Amino acid sequence: MTIALSQFDEVRLDRVSRDFGALNALRDVSLTIRRREFIALLGPSGCGKSTTLNCIAGLLPVTGGAIWLDKQRVDTLRPEERGFGMVFQNYALFPHLNVRQNIGFGLKMRGTPKAEIDRKVDEALSLVRLQGQEHKLPGQLSGGQQQRVAIARAIVIEPPLVLMDEPLSNLDAKLRLEMRAEIRRIHNELGATTIYVTHDQDEALSLADRIVVLRDGVVRQVGSPKELYEEPAHLDVADFMGFRNKLRGRVLEIENGRVLLDVEGARIAGVAREHVSPGSLAYAAIRSDDMAVGTPGDRSLAVTVDTMEYRGREFVGTAHTAGGLDLVFRSHQAVEPGAKIHLQVEDNRVLVFAEPVQGRN
Ligand code: ATP
Repeated sequence: MTIALSQFDEVRLDRVSRDFGALNALRDVSLTIRRREFIALLGPSGCGKSTTLNCIAGLLPVTGGAIWLDKQRVDTLRPEERGFGMVFQNYALFPHLNVRQNIGFGLKMRGTPKAEIDRKVDEALSLVRLQGQEHKLPGQLSGGQQQRVAIARAIVIEPPLVLMDEPLSNLDAKLRLEMRAEIRRIHNELGATTIYVTHDQDEALSLADRIVVLRDGVVRQVGSPKELYEEPAHLDVADFMGFRNKLRGRVLEIENGRVLLDVEGARIAGVAREHVSPGSLAYAAIRSDDMAVGTPGDRSLAVTVDTMEYRGREFVGTAHTAGGLDLVFRSHQAVEPGAKIHLQVEDNRVLVFAEPVQGRN
């Protein structure tokens, strides 16, 4: 291959902080990214994903901590000295330059000889499958094609790191799926190291080798997609991983890590993911897939159905309890809104978390 990415062993964020006035947008973020990893930064809007990426890229100075590329400190370098490839949500292409010129721009700025630029641009065009489009202007391309140009432009400079900030957000659902697979293919073919910002858990789960969940500028959990999906360490991570039902209740008893909770008179059993003690308040987190219509009894919740949606293979409903808990469940049959039913969960599908401490979760 003509395009050979710079090699290194790891990128390390060491207690990186970034303040905006009184706002601590990032607080002591420490993270090691290994060569060839695909890392997703995941979290709700405003959690600090873009700030983290921009600090790594050098578009934003850090206000504390350091960033290392192996033994070289890079947070003190200008963005162009770091030489990382960036892909933005809005593509950020030059509208008056054609595809080939857009992709070759960075190399030209670096004074790369023309023959070498041509060779590398050809290879980048082929990698992102845009051969034959090279003389078009960005305005003559679809959103997906423009994103391919942006990716080609980021990788043609042979960066040690490729940084992507919500690159698929402007694409429609079908194209987003297609480009998602393309991004992973390109990452693999190049042997790239990629840091990818998204607020979409499906995107993070399907693309990443490891996911970093951020909240309020703090790293909440780092793990493989499977670890995060099956073993979220905190309630907010579980929430982000699709545990839509969060049932607040009081701990009745604990035995071998299994907790029995009283939730509005129903006894809900689950596995403790955080330390809880008898008598304390805790949350049972349950996926809507694991909450189904059942029969009355001391293990089921009495609810009133609010909405019912047909989803092809099954229905998904919402309901509320007398105590005001809102729940999402699945059902094989349609249930009329207003109907009073009982919802049941499988014990081994319930995770129990401590009640978050206000202002310090
Ligand atoms: P989104 O997905 O909405 O972009 P994000 O997780 O990327 O969210 P950031 O853009 O990193 O979040 O923002 C983190 C926090 O820092 C937010 O509270 C945001 O309002 C604040 N912030 C970001 N940039 C600036 C800035 N230039 N000046 C002041 N505050 C900022």
